[in-house]
Amino acid sequence: MEETQLKNEIRNSIEHKLSRHYGISVEEASRNQMYKTCARIVRDLLLEKRAKYHEEMKKKQNKKIYYLCMEFLIGRSLKNNIYNLGLDNELQEVLSDWNFQLEDLYEEEPDAGLGNGGLGRLASCFMDSLATLGYPAMGFSICYEYGLFKQKIVDGWQMELPDIWLPGGEVWLKKRTDLTFPVKFEGELKEVWTENGLRIDYNNCNEVEAVAYDMMISGADSDDVAVLRLWKAQDIKNFDMNSFSNGDYNRAMMENTSAELICKVLYPSDNHAEGKTLRIRQEYFLVSASIQNIIHDHLRKYGTLNNFSEKVAIHINDTHPAMCIPELMRIFMDEYQYTWNDAYKMVIDSVTYTNHTVLAEALEKWPEVLIKQQLPRIYEILKELNEQFCQQLWNQYPGDWDRIERMAIISNGQIRMANLSVIGSSHVNGVSKLHSDILKNDVFHDFYQNTPWKFTNVTNGIAHRRWLCQANPELTKLLDECIGDEYKKDASKLAHFRKYHDNLDVLQRLDNIKLNNKIRFSNLMKNKGVTIDPYSMFVVQAKRLHEYKRQLLNVLRIISLYLDLKENPNMHVVPQTFLFAAKAAPGYFAAKEVIKLINHLSVEIEKDPVLRQNIRVVFLENYCVTMAETLMPAAEVSEQISLAGKEASGTGNMKMMINGALTMGTMDGANVEIFDAVGKDNIFIFGMNADEVERRLKSGYAASFYYQNNPKIRRVLDCLRKGFNGESFESIYRYLLVGEYGMGDPYMCLADFDDYLKVHDQLSETYHNRNKWNTMSLYNIAGAERFAADRSVQDYASQIWGIEPLK
Ligand SMILES: *Cc1c(COP(=O)(O)O)cnc(C)c1O
Repeated sequence: MEETQLKNEIRNSIEHKLSRHYGISVEEASRNQMYKTCARIVRDLLLEKRAKYHEEMKKKQNKKIYYLCMEFLIGRSLKNNIYNLGLDNELQEVLSDWNFQLEDLYEEEPDAGLGNGGLGRLASCFMDSLATLGYPAMGFSICYEYGLFKQKIVDGWQMELPDIWLPGGEVWLKKRTDLTFPVKFEGELKEVWTENGLRIDYNNCNEVEAVAYDMMISGADSDDVAVLRLWKAQDIKNFDMNSFSNGDYNRAMMENTSAELICKVLYPSDNHAEGKTLRIRQEYFLVSASIQNIIHDHLRKYGTLNNFSEKVAIHINDTHPAMCIPELMRIFMDEYQYTWNDAYKMVIDSVTYTNHTVLAEALEKWPEVLIKQQLPRIYEILKELNEQFCQQLWNQYPGDWDRIERMAIISNGQIRMANLSVIGSSHVNGVSKLHSDILKNDVFHDFYQNTPWKFTNVTNGIAHRRWLCQANPELTKLLDECIGDEYKKDASKLAHFRKYHDNLDVLQRLDNIKLNNKIRFSNLMKNKGVTIDPYSMFVVQAKRLHEYKRQLLNVLRIISLYLDLKENPNMHVVPQTFLFAAKAAPGYFAAKEVIKLINHLSVEIEKDPVLRQNIRVVFLENYCVTMAETLMPAAEVSEQISLAGKEASGTGNMKMMINGALTMGTMDGANVEIFDAVGKDNIFIFGMNADEVERRLKSGYAASFYYQNNPKIRRVLDCLRKGFNGESFESIYRYLLVGEYGMGDPYMCLADFDDYLKVHDQLSETYHNRNKWNTMSLYNIAGAERFAADRSVQDYASQIWGIEPLK
């Protein structure tokens, strides 16, 4: 289309939509109305594109991937969609005539925070890549009314406020009144024999209706539009007219709320499983609605289920949607009269599973009684699955009770969702090489011995168009000039940037770009009343607050530096700002104590004018995708310091790397592969590796040994006791030194402390050598080539899902 014609069309549709939705002219429109108007235009464009793509899909009949996940951490959509559609220039020109700036409109959009952290963000990055690469794909999740809570810090303590995203976010959702499915809970089962065989009736069950809300996800420069389908629950009768007309107003309202409760809030814990009824209901609600939808679509397209696994790939992102295994069995058998064996084969051939954690407290286990009461038919199927599987094991390993017990789905009154997921899938993968090895050698070792072919690895990746091209326009421009723009569609081309490792002009420009991004971030923070010196070194740890991620180790080092500087104010240090951004699960007391420590330490340092010129601690309130998009380009040091073996992959590490930050990290998760990508000279690695951690745990860790023998550690711990800004942190002192079992904290912060300080000293040395630093930064940007979500999705497509792009 000719450019002026396109601009005319945009202009007309803005005027038309403003008049239709608000009855106003452009002159009267507020920023918010203009944001929503642009969002509606983009959404309608995507709906049209999707309809065309849908027709193509019907013709070609490619196998399709359905990606099930309880979380999608979407962030904002307008900027991403406008970028992917390539509309930014034209739209800005039209808006300029009316004195609107696109950047201002972007700020009107609330973050869709329908996820906790890395897992949900990964799912969102994958949708972008699936659409861009042209794979037929659909994501399924829940349309939570409230996303992850908003964090507010009051006197250093985290408070949680509801995240009201729908006003402003709902313009992206297209309600599909034509797509509703009933989901049944509770009740009693009745087996009825009919001429068509066995029929299962449900008496007194509690039925809710799942309604689809579609969000269109555009690919970059592609015909494909992926759909993220979010389910909302509504009462099946919508309203109990009977109770209502009998004057039982309260009861009528109650029935309604019980259905709607399912989609009210996202569970706010990350890497932690809670055995709550509402959570089971949420998980089954997602699974049942999605599976019914998938089967319904398949039948409409092919008229039979016999070719189901040839045309359908169902992926479960962690165990949260694992109930899709018995749900598929249920529908195949109860509604389409397949035999158990045929149904079982169809399930295994279509379902695949990604594990996201090795932390015991995060592996889902449901009390048998709860499943039996909430999902009676699913419970029967789970019992049968378990019995048949154990029988098979008994034949393979006669007498090996221990092994069979470890591998069973049901044991000790608990249903283990991870075992169910492995048993019911054709492929199981971890999210980094190290993590996948740990799955094979440890967490799923018995399963690996039994079915080694199921196990594979797909290292995580990030949507590099969002995290580099959109978040860091200056760096993108430099890359375009140096290596052309092919890397936008093919991230492996980023590797060509290595050629410039000794180009002084390019290195100087990298330095300037980083400074500009730091200034940009500091200015943003100034508007929120937070002072940051953009000329200090930015040391960033931004991720969920969790013991295993060891924010505390970072704090211990800062306290050590603080004490050094108090003793010797003339000591030379690189002026640095320690930026923390982290939400703690609302009930996770130990994590909230760490946030409080960071905030009080920050105030304490701020009181001293000499100290605060050298070091400054800043806690950034309410970490979310939108904040990350401005923080990542400003980061110089990326703190990735989890206890080795515990972080499955990490993706924050990749986001900072691609923006030129250097990693200070342990050999954990994807850090190991970052090390491989950039080489030992371009990364700062410290501490025990995963094997050393294992050996250490076996030989016994005693925190008191470090306290007694290391004066630096003793000094820091004693200082915690005394406290900061009038608050003692005795509880953290005890946690580190004594812990639950008297030996210290389970993540052994003190064992890695010395090495952490030593390697940070090397980093400071290097920071003075600007040329060296910038060269290292350049190698990181170029090395991030392999951490694009496009590459991850291609790995899944070819190794796991067996799907191909439409074109
Ligand atoms: C990328 C991202 C994460 C994951 O960070 P990790 O360091 O990998 O734990 C969490 N939250 C947000 C908002 C993110 O963008």
